[in-house]
Amino acid sequence: MTAPRILRPQGSGRFVFFCDHASNYVPAELRDLGLPASELARHIAWDIGAAGVTEALSEIFDAPAILCNASRLVIDCNRHLNASDLIPEVSDGTVIPGNLHLSEAAKATRRERWFHPYHDAVEAVLLERETRGVQSIAVSVHSMTASLAGKPRPWRIALSSHLDRSLADPVLAALRRPGDVVVGDNQPYGLDPEVDYSIPFHALRRGLPHVQVEFRQDEITETTAQRQWALRFAQTLM
Ligand SMILES: [Zn+2]
Repeated sequence: MTAPRILRPQGSGRFVFFCDHASNYVPAELRDLGLPASELARHIAWDIGAAGVTEALSEIFDAPAILCNASRLVIDCNRHLNASDLIPEVSDGTVIPGNLHLSEAAKATRRERWFHPYHDAVEAVLLERETRGVQSIAVSVHSMTASLAGKPRPWRIALSSHLDRSLADPVLAALRRPGDVVVGDNQPYGLDPEVDYSIPFHALRRGLPHVQVEFRQDEITETTAQRQWALRFAQTLM
């Protein structure tokens, strides 16, 4: 298993999709990080449904997509390398036994095997397009839980943005136009360049147009629903 899964690297679409939390895979040598399967199935291990939405978006636009093949409990590819929760010891109240008291060598192995190859793959796709003179619009795909601390989340889809709202604003307007769903604007999560890594590193640094989207997990558990939401979101990007 390699860190990045790359779809349509030569795709002709304007967008480049990436999915930091696409998988709940834990390599065998990490022995499930000491967690039961029930914990590894939860959102703490991955963004449920986000991979399917990303695959559909890549297909709809004939656009490259890069998905990370490792659980964010192995290493969180949307965190800076010096972040305390890069390899989380606790996530949403669950202690991650396999992440406690890690040696520097063990942490380095995680970075070298999963973090760097994934981000290198995103870089390679973006650089290759730059070389060909092809403009890229970066789209970071995530999913969020339906509730937090027992409180239901009203937003079925949400965008996270920072200072540059040049793409977020028209996409938000288009998502809201039918009037049938509550759309989050920096709710429940904003885009914080000090905390988030992928959009700041790949898009803000280059001045690329970008959007970070969160789909609510209960909306995208099934393949059909993933495709429907991908289509709906895609229409706002067209
Ligand atoms: Zn995520």
